[in-house]
Amino acid sequence: MSIQNNLNSISKTIPENVTLIAVSKTQPAASILEAYQAGQRAFGENKIQEMAEKFDILPKDIEWHMIGHLQRNKVKYMAHFVHLIHGADSFKTLKEINKQAIKHNRIINCLLEIKIASEETKFGLPFTEAEQLLKSEELKNLKNINITGLMGMASFTDDIEIIRSEFKNLKNFFDSLQKYQSFNVNSTILSMGMSGDYKIAIEEGSTMIRVGSAIFGLRNKN
Ligand SMILES: *Cc1c(COP(=O)(O)O)cnc(C)c1O
Repeated sequence: MSIQNNLNSISKTIPENVTLIAVSKTQPAASILEAYQAGQRAFGENKIQEMAEKFDILPKDIEWHMIGHLQRNKVKYMAHFVHLIHGADSFKTLKEINKQAIKHNRIINCLLEIKIASEETKFGLPFTEAEQLLKSEELKNLKNINITGLMGMASFTDDIEIIRSEFKNLKNFFDSLQKYQSFNVNSTILSMGMSGDYKIAIEEGSTMIRVGSAIFGLRNKN
């Protein structure tokens, strides 16, 4: 199957209100261009420098999504162009994003990454900490960020009932946060679902799926 065929068949199965992010980490520019020529505009990367290099050489109407764990000292390399940062998981990181956004006179959209899997290795904020952050007075000082929703990754397991319940928990939490909307919290995006579990994620209320290998084929690294 070609990249174009893969994109077409995925697009056909997802509802209109769900945005497909093509996760192009480790993929060469030629593969991204192939997806671009098939009409795809939103791409996701997990390394800031790799994304910045691709931004420089690829069409400027691509929306670049940073989906990986953030190293604060590298935020500056993407602050001028990133469309949405999915992996904000601390006040310190949001503060750095805000600082870099000010330098470029823009507002950077961020999702709070929430820890929903039981595995130890996963990044993200526990529900209680995310709620505290959204309630906090100090968040109001960050005028150049806009928290547009939440992101989560389910456990790596074949047990679809575990995956489903993790997505369900995140959706319930997302719904419960609607009371914290403010000038820099405008929560409408729920980013959950990857190649192996996006169908379950959509059934559980995802509005944005991050799909790599089902579009580009298996990666040999990352
Ligand atoms: C790699 C990655 C994806 C895509 O994974 P696939 O299984 O290839 O679809 C989605 N989200 C994040 C955060 C990733 O790092």
